Amino acid sequence: MTDCLFCKMVAGEIKPAVVYENDHVLAFRDIRPRAPVHVLVIPKRHIPTLDDLSESDSALPHELLQAVRKVAHSEGIAETGFRTVINCRGDSGQEVYHLHLHVLGGRPMSWPPG
Ligand code: C5P
Repeated sequence: MTDCLFCKMVAGEIKPAVVYENDHVLAFRDIRPRAPVHVLVIPKRHIPTLDDLSESDSALPHELLQAVRKVAHSEGIAETGFRTVINCRGDSGQEVYHLHLHVLGGRPMSWPPG
């Protein structure tokens, strides 16, 4: 996906502030943080939305969620609490069509989200 912003980050063409990486997953600081800690966790493989995960991608959700846990611990928000958000398509406000999990923390949050 040559025109995908997050694929360019995975390829090293754009260099985000990386906080965690393994063979399958990359985690980096959101450029417009909405909380004191705001990290995006993405699969290295291009998957446009949550709804594009296939049955055969069964290992990937585990990889992504374990990366979220690791980021929460390394960022110091595991104990105080954090929120993980996946926006999917139009009404959710998804802007970047490469699956990503927002990891937000460092302040109290309200519910429901806007
Ligand atoms: O879920 P959604 O698609 O709206 O989130 C995309 C996120 O990607 C935004 O929070 C935005 O700030 C972030 N972003 C980024 N670096 C960019 C472009 C967007 O961290 N260069």
